[in-house]
Amino acid sequence: MSLVAQLQTALGAQAVLVSEAEVAGYLQDWRGRYGGPAACVVLPSCTQQVAAAVRIAGRLRVPVLAQGGNTSLSGGSVPWPDGAAPMLINLARMRAVRAIDTANDSMVVEAGCVLAAVQQAASERRRLYPVSLGAEGSCQIGGNIATNAGGTGVLRYGNTRENVLGLEVVLPDGQIWDGLYRLRKNNTGLDLKHLFIGSEGTLGVITAACLKLHPLPTAQAVAWMAVPNPAAALDMLALFQRRCGASLSAFEMMNGPQLDYVLEHVPGRRAPLPASYAWHVLVELADSGAEPALTGALQETLQQGLAQGWVLDASLAASGPQRAALWALRHSVSQANKQAGIGLSTDCALPVSAVPEFIERATLAVHRVMPGLPIIIVAHLGDGNVHFIPLIPFAGFGPWSAVADRQATASAASAVRQAVHAVAHALSGSFSAEHGIGQLLTQEMARFKPAVELAMMRGIKGLLDPQQLFNPGRLFPAVATTRTSA
Ligand code: FAD
Repeated sequence: MSLVAQLQTALGAQAVLVSEAEVAGYLQDWRGRYGGPAACVVLPSCTQQVAAAVRIAGRLRVPVLAQGGNTSLSGGSVPWPDGAAPMLINLARMRAVRAIDTANDSMVVEAGCVLAAVQQAASERRRLYPVSLGAEGSCQIGGNIATNAGGTGVLRYGNTRENVLGLEVVLPDGQIWDGLYRLRKNNTGLDLKHLFIGSEGTLGVITAACLKLHPLPTAQAVAWMAVPNPAAALDMLALFQRRCGASLSAFEMMNGPQLDYVLEHVPGRRAPLPASYAWHVLVELADSGAEPALTGALQETLQQGLAQGWVLDASLAASGPQRAALWALRHSVSQANKQAGIGLSTDCALPVSAVPEFIERATLAVHRVMPGLPIIIVAHLGDGNVHFIPLIPFAGFGPWSAVADRQATASAASAVRQAVHAVAHALSGSFSAEHGIGQLLTQEMARFKPAVELAMMRGIKGLLDPQQLFNPGRLFPAVATTRTSA
């Protein structure tokens, strides 16, 4: 029997999509850059169905691609144009909240739960699930875990890895691993959940997770400030940390040109301060105290920053809708950049203190490759994650719009990306902070990842997926391109 016939027998015809019209929506990535055909799209309704589908694919040696909300920015979530077409498993039908345990501050959700629905379910029980990002209305918790998503809450609550207590996973041989522990301590050898967090669908299909919950803040205060440069922004970060301690919950920076893009390309967005200021910061305080006290702390810290010359101008949100409007500016960045046709975005992690030097040196490095190229920047400054975005002329930007030829543009983009990554590496940073490797950055894995780390990763992959069927060509560089020395 064929793959499709076996799947239909095991899962029911409604769980297996094959017609061109039905599968079309699953085959291309969010930015419209990557994609390819699938053998079929499977929509399982439970963990046992995932396991059955994986066993069938394994017997027939068909590649397996897990897909969540398909919001990957690194081309990890869609099929490839060449080679064997995969069985694509989309988890959208597995979206139950299985349990919320307020006494233990944990919740068990199926992998297909959309992040915003997880946040909402937690908040209805007066708890916070703190991972938050621009794609939260579409991305799924399974995809967040598979990519170890970051976002705007990392400064205070950590990234996804730090908010997962346990996992349920279907392994490549079809076994179900029930690791849905809700323990805060469990020293019984290796903590296997960490293998799957950030594994980008290469080691198994995550089907459910036990997540860590936090007290829901009752008070929030948000401000938008203009600062003269990234170093002054860092001074303000340190000042907020000193004065406001754990109530500092977000510290996000962008340059004026990035704010301009948001205002120009996303309808309904209005900035509280002119985009002509060179650098902008959104700061949020949140805790379980009273709002006036928090607003007072925010005002006093801003005043001190103004007196020091670290802040040029500031605007405080006076209500819930105003706070939401400031956050909407930040969360609209990816949408704006997509609308604008921006072709190259980098996602570097730095020691927080090195961010100003990174921005300066990366700008010089890019301008050595393409003099005068405009650059927009948006950063989760509180955790040292900088999206440094040289405006390569994919859609005809600036003085370089003469670079019309597709191949020339692609090689210019590659040279610029490599230059930025080399600066991050030289400053003890990473070329990938939160968006994952996907198919976009496998070459950079070969360039920067020590050989011994790649060898350990390959050993684990070989153990769990000896047929190399799970998400082939993603995350791991091709063997021939691997560095031979650490
Ligand atoms: P997909 O895109 O469907 O898949 C991503 C990877 O995970 C693929 O390799 C896929 O095979 C694997 N995968 C998916 N589900 C499973 C599963 N159940 N089991 C095993 N593997 C699986 N990311 C950030 O970290 N921070 C941000 O601030 C941020 N902002 C964004 C803003 C916008 C507007 C957009 C479009 C994206 C943004 N992203 C951000 C990137 C993206 O949203 C995250 O990587 C997200 O975690 C992906 O989740 P997803 O469900 O869409 O996964």
